[in-house]
Amino acid sequence: MEILHISAECYPVAKVGGLGDVVGALPKYQHQLGNFAKVVIPAYRNKYYHTHEFDVVHQAGMWLGHNWYHFNVIKERSNELGFDLYLVDIPGLLDTPGVYGYPNDTERFLAFQVAVLDWINEWQHQPDVIHCHDHHTGLIPFLLNYGYKYERLKSIPTALTIHNAQYQGQFGWDKLYLIPSFDLWKSGMLDWGGAINPLASAIKCAWRVTTVSPGYLEELYYNANGLEALINQERAKMVGILNGIDNVVWDPATDRMLPLNYDEDTITAGKQTNKQHLCERFGLDASLPLISFIGRLVGDKGADLLPEIIGRSLHELAGEVNFLVLGSGDPHIEWSLQQTRAVVSYGFNVHIGYDESLSHQIYAGSDFLLMPSRVEPCGLNQMYALRYGTVPVVRSTGGLKDTVIDFGDKDGVGIRFNQASVWDVCYSVKRAIELYRDSKHLDEVRLRGMNIDNSWDSSAQRYLEMYKSMK
Ligand code: ADP
Repeated sequence: MEILHISAECYPVAKVGGLGDVVGALPKYQHQLGNFAKVVIPAYRNKYYHTHEFDVVHQAGMWLGHNWYHFNVIKERSNELGFDLYLVDIPGLLDTPGVYGYPNDTERFLAFQVAVLDWINEWQHQPDVIHCHDHHTGLIPFLLNYGYKYERLKSIPTALTIHNAQYQGQFGWDKLYLIPSFDLWKSGMLDWGGAINPLASAIKCAWRVTTVSPGYLEELYYNANGLEALINQERAKMVGILNGIDNVVWDPATDRMLPLNYDEDTITAGKQTNKQHLCERFGLDASLPLISFIGRLVGDKGADLLPEIIGRSLHELAGEVNFLVLGSGDPHIEWSLQQTRAVVSYGFNVHIGYDESLSHQIYAGSDFLLMPSRVEPCGLNQMYALRYGTVPVVRSTGGLKDTVIDFGDKDGVGIRFNQASVWDVCYSVKRAIELYRDSKHLDEVRLRGMNIDNSWDSSAQRYLEMYKSMK
């Protein structure tokens, strides 16, 4: 099959979170299963763009409302990613260093979607499936169904994957003129809650809609940031498929970002050396259990709870545990963490920012990875932690519930708690310390986690089966 993934992120080209990881891995595994997978994302002006070579494969221009833009589609030359990578370059809109957070994000991603469709419209053949990811590509199923320009593409099956239903990309009807002309009778297919809602539109118009874990799909039926009724209505085309991880990128035995590589046989020495490096860098005591957090510092991840969790635990358990946080996001949470760091003189450090290699070093050098998420559509961090022999400490929600069994139960690999509350998490911290002290039990739990196969193999297959069912 020929599958075209359209996304705002793709690792290692442009990554902000899990979306990038998924779009950088799933196509590679689909390719290995004998399919032809292509990925198209915007041509941001980032490190990858400046350090790689590209060939121009398409040049054109388009109207976005009253403005005319030239655009190029360029193809990465070396084919190093395991799939064909195309970038859409629209000077004046997409040539930004970052992915999101610009005042004209609505125009930027609308232009991206129009450029991609204009480009596909010129292909002599058609892809077998168009796979859209999140709201940045959410108007594509609508435009394929009802856009006058794209009549000849109408029969291409479309899939939407919801990586996070909190972000829907809504904008006002005053911007309707930006959308290429379509059958106006169908404008209701754009609407949700009185605004143009790209995620809702894609749920209405795509042939299939997937969520990144079965657990998250169950939650969306009653808690979907206002989309519950729509998701219930479209129940027949919803499928929950658990994300996998890229076992080649995330392998402690070969990971070049680690001070020392290790596998199941060398885990004790490997983790100790990695922990020592990390603790030296961050002024922590390597003889104590190290509990880390990596992620966006937002309420959904429970990051607002961290200052109190850390403050309380260090007060009650002084000299018994270390904490380390890597993340960026809500300025208030960043500030609170820095204040906590200033107040507690030992046992805690924080690195505000995005740092891919440091994240790998933390997965390897920590004993526990804390995820007090209020919402977790899939969560990749817990799967990376398991692969690196780090015990995940997670709230029972979404994909975390699907991937982590408590060590008190049969085949347990982690620690689970029910509430995103300081009390529940602090109790789990105590359980983590107890487990750490029982080194034999800790080794068993770690090894069980390392041996779990969370790779994309089976999930990539499930996506293929779903595509086939759309024919
Ligand atoms: P999200 O909701 O952010 O997409 P996921 O668990 O699906 O959450 O994916 C998070 C990904 O982003 C993981 O690969 C994680 O290691 C990475 N990540 C998050 N924050 C940072 C950071 N500050 N520095 C490095 N990597 C990060």
